[in-house]
Amino acid sequence: MGIESSCDETGVALVDASGSATPRLLGHALHSQIEMHQAYGGVVPELASRDHIRRVLPLTDTVLAQAGLPLSAVDAIAYTRGPGLAGALLVGSGVACALGFALGKPVIGVHHLEGHLLSPFLSADPPEFPFVALLVSGGHSQLMRVDGVGRYELLGETIDDAAGEAFDKSAKLLGLPYPGGPALSRLALQGDPQAYKFPRPLLHSGDLDFSFAGLKTAVLTQVKRLAHASPEGPATLHLADPLNAQQKADVAASVQAAIVDVLVRKSMAAIRQTGLMRLVVAGGVGANVLLREQLGTACAKAGVRVHYPELHLCTDNGAMIALAGGMRVQAGLADDGPVGYPFDVKPRWPLSELGGAIAA
Ligand code: ATP
Ligand code: MG
Ligand code: FE
Repeated sequence: MGIESSCDETGVALVDASGSATPRLLGHALHSQIEMHQAYGGVVPELASRDHIRRVLPLTDTVLAQAGLPLSAVDAIAYTRGPGLAGALLVGSGVACALGFALGKPVIGVHHLEGHLLSPFLSADPPEFPFVALLVSGGHSQLMRVDGVGRYELLGETIDDAAGEAFDKSAKLLGLPYPGGPALSRLALQGDPQAYKFPRPLLHSGDLDFSFAGLKTAVLTQVKRLAHASPEGPATLHLADPLNAQQKADVAASVQAAIVDVLVRKSMAAIRQTGLMRLVVAGGVGANVLLREQLGTACAKAGVRVHYPELHLCTDNGAMIALAGGMRVQAGLADDGPVGYPFDVKPRWPLSELGGAIAA
């Protein structure tokens, strides 16, 4: 069983990761708090924690009913140990430890990004190790070399904002609701991606790092120009109101093109650098249609196989946590955390510090 509660999604799932067959999703339930936080333009941590408490046990019942299994059939309980909001993480860890203690079953604290990273193993077209992973979510943008469960080598990462953050912040400047990624990419369908020339930061830096903070400034400047607003003035809620629908769509299409362009070119550079012929894309931005199209084209040209999680498992969910916990148990890497039921969370937790990461 997996429990995810790192941010604004409560997710519970059951995965069968026993045996040598590909892991199988037996049940999966999710409650998104997006609507609750929308009025504030972002996640309010205290509200998030309280809502996780309300949702997690009913979701657990739903998942067991879907799977047609009693609680006693659960072999191990995985929860998101971090990174994330401390109060939100504590809900998942508290419930996981209570269940584990009551059932006498092991409890495994899972790294949220390892969950994202391994999530394509639940897809109809699962990858094989080794591969290059492009992890692009709301809080992270990383390229990794993945040789097996727990064997992750960071190749490059963002030096400031994450790709999802660049989507979200640009969307906010256009007056779109939080989280802006999906809304911005929908709006972009009506726009011209070449209407405005936005920067492609670090494209020729020679390394595999990203930078997206400058993009937000460029979008802000462009929106102000179109709105005839003062260049020195602050970014306000209604800044983009004077723009017509086409101008907004053009900005959306142009900023999406810039983000996707950088992600695709850096991913292909990572493929060349490692010599690996397999690419895995994970995290919320992996749901982006343009990214999938352009990576598809680039990878086909290079003879590289590309794998994605199922669309509904790109953003946060319990299935990826159950899967990562199950794969860790299978790999004999399950007990790198404190022994017993320690209610242990790590709000800040670089993937490089993940226990078992250098297991050879
Ligand atoms: P992290 O995993 O780094 O802690 P997170 O859990 O908030 O962050 P995810 O749930 O993986 O991130 O993904 C959410 C992000 O994905 C948001 O920034 C959202 O805007 C973005 N996103 C979701 N769908 C799309 C899409 N179709 N196009 C672009 N961005 C998208
Ligand atoms: Mg989320
Ligand atoms: Fe996430």
